Amino acid sequence: AHRGYALSDERIVGETSRTATLEQMLLGAVRELEAGRSPFLLHYQPVIHLAPGRLPSYEALLRWPAAAELGAGPGEFIPLAEETGLIGPIGRWVIEQAVGQGAAWRRAGFPFERIGINLSAVQLADAELEHRLAETLARHGCEARCITLEVTETALVHHPEETAERIRTLGARGYRIAIDDFGTGYSSLVQLRTLPAQVIKIDRAFIANLPASEVDAAIVRATVQVAHTLGAEVVAEGVETEAQYAFLREAGCDAVQGWYTGRPQPPEAWQASPAVARG
Ligand code: C2E
Ligand code: MG
Ligand code: MG
Ligand code: MG
Repeated sequence: AHRGYALSDERIVGETSRTATLEQMLLGAVRELEAGRSPFLLHYQPVIHLAPGRLPSYEALLRWPAAAELGAGPGEFIPLAEETGLIGPIGRWVIEQAVGQGAAWRRAGFPFERIGINLSAVQLADAELEHRLAETLARHGCEARCITLEVTETALVHHPEETAERIRTLGARGYRIAIDDFGTGYSSLVQLRTLPAQVIKIDRAFIANLPASEVDAAIVRATVQVAHTLGAEVVAEGVETEAQYAFLREAGCDAVQGWYTGRPQPPEAWQASPAVARG
């Protein structure tokens, strides 16, 4: 037991200094942003609609090369940015960048349906969000219906009513609302009653073991049924194999996203070779 303690202490110290390092780096990165330089990039991953005739959408995913060198992706540094309040300026940069990309792609005639932007709970708690989005769209000559806002169930944990109301308002302004990572929260089904979402993105945890897992297969089928009954469409996340793709198509999923249909890449890569629907 004594040895176990020593080991876990070491681990805690190691993680604390890693966290401290990342926090220092985040602070530096935000100063860079404020000075008009960006240490961040956005990559875009296609969401492939399975119905014929619909163009792909693209989700914007934050990339930070300096953190990647330490093996830290957005799943690690975004929660830190949320805790430290640094998500504010970073999220504003993401919105500016992603809307600008959408506008540039429209002007260039690049084929896409929508750009997806991830919003964290902290951003949704900001009363300025709606105004900022509208101002950014207007400045770039873009419309709300070109944008999907991805929100997670956990965004509702702290101020459920206020946040749901804010999301409803955004929906009424014409943004498409997607519930991200669906199924990983505490009360996914309850959220469906309060959140006005047009899109439900099934978390990749439920996709990973398809088609072998009967439980996951049942969960996916049930989610598709509930979503369609509510008039929402279903996107499956983390689709990596042809077998998963075939199962999801057969199960009635509306769209898929994952390595099988395209990894996140810089916008130039998609311009050179646009994502395509698969047979
Ligand atoms: P998410 O929004 O659920 O994004 C999907 C994640 O799954 C991305 O991870 C993507 O790279 C990864 N992914 C896509 N296809 C596959 C696949 O086939 N297999 C596997 N194993 N993974 C796949 P990423 O880019 O590391 O982002 C992690 C999370 O960080 C995102 O999850 C999102 O919650 C958050 N995030 C990313 N960019 C932003 C941003 O600009 N703002 C905010 N607030 N959050 C962001
Ligand atoms: Mg997302
Ligand atoms: Mg997701
Ligand atoms: Mg996810």
